[in-house]
Amino acid sequence: MSTLHHGYFTAGLDADPELAAAIRGEESRQADGIELIASENIVSRLVLEAQGSVLTNKTVEGPAYARYYGGAEFADAIEALAIERARRLFGARFANVQPHSGSNANAGVFLGLLKLGDTVLSMNVAAGGHISHGHPATLTGRDYSIIRYGVNRETERLDLDEIRDLAREHAPRMIVAGGSAYFRAMDFAALRAIADEVGAYLMVDMAHFAGLVATGLYPDPVPHAHVVTTTTYKSLRGARGGLVLWNDPALSDRINYGIFPGVQGSVMLHAVAGKAACLGEALRPEFRAYNEAVLANARALAQALGAQNVRIVSGGTDMGLMLVDLTPRGLTGEIVAKALEHAGLAVNKNQIPFDPRPPEAPSGLRLSSNAGTTRGFGTAEFATIAGWIERVMQAPQDAATLAEVKDEVVALCRAFPIYPER
Ligand SMILES: *Cc1c(COP(=O)(O)O)cnc(C)c1O
Repeated sequence: MSTLHHGYFTAGLDADPELAAAIRGEESRQADGIELIASENIVSRLVLEAQGSVLTNKTVEGPAYARYYGGAEFADAIEALAIERARRLFGARFANVQPHSGSNANAGVFLGLLKLGDTVLSMNVAAGGHISHGHPATLTGRDYSIIRYGVNRETERLDLDEIRDLAREHAPRMIVAGGSAYFRAMDFAALRAIADEVGAYLMVDMAHFAGLVATGLYPDPVPHAHVVTTTTYKSLRGARGGLVLWNDPALSDRINYGIFPGVQGSVMLHAVAGKAACLGEALRPEFRAYNEAVLANARALAQALGAQNVRIVSGGTDMGLMLVDLTPRGLTGEIVAKALEHAGLAVNKNQIPFDPRPPEAPSGLRLSSNAGTTRGFGTAEFATIAGWIERVMQAPQDAATLAEVKDEVVALCRAFPIYPER
């Protein structure tokens, strides 16, 4: 008797109806819903195929062209392609494309450049920082001494004086900029000057604005930071995973060893191929047009929402994302996010700076134009989305209203289809 069940090499998802039903369900959820969650986007068929390829069978360890295992000629070519494209896209001298995620990229950089117990100055999660920059619940939070900066209470923007004062007082070994709910332009030259003054590394995590950096639509951290990290599946619109960039050859071994063997083992080669694919797409002129549309759409959404008696934190955005304070409406992010989900609009609740409310029922929502722009929405569609959000905010508990909005959402989505039916 064969050791393989019937259809092992030939049957697809249909061989597992339970799993197939769930995946098909997710396909139609994505097709018929409006994705406004900041950490999501919609990849091309090319990226989907690269990530779903036979590369998942290949195990390699270590840098391209210096692998521990044999049979790596194509693996080496794929990783070299991803590295070359990352360097070209961002104008960086060096890149590591192996991190399995953004958090792993950050953990690898911490491990490579810091000693246990070193002091790190990073942004408070409550003010918009990311958990992987030293939150107490993470390894980075446990292994290093973390000092936090926030935003200015009036402007809700970074306060360089506060950061400089904290840097002088605590002499950190590394300063981290970038977060998950801070959407204004940052002055990377000024941050580097602060880092230099106290002898610290500057690390910039550009997960939410990498696409804008690649296309010249946001300040470029690469010339200023010692090291830049990012995810590849948010604004870069590609494979799941992370990426590290730097310019100083003296840092190369430490960063590369920090990633492997520091925090990871073998390479997820299928994801590296997906990164090569999305970086190739990002080098095309269409990606610049996409990012211009992301910004225009975010501004249209922020403007329309601002006219609806909610408050856009910091008065606007310099990215495809925004933080909305629902306090003027007497609503919480919890209630509105749930109601929007019933109406076919996916968003996430989020704390606002100095939020008097707890993380489980915060004052705000975080919205992104990234995925909607990918499926072809323009400023008119984003104004329509703002109108739906208004209707939902007026009657968040009213099932009939939510069902009505959902019907209209589905109709718009069908006019902007994503992957064709298979
Ligand atoms: C999303 C995000 C990450 C984490 O990425 P994972 O792939 O979920 O580990 C890290 N940093 C920032 C700023 C992010 O927005």
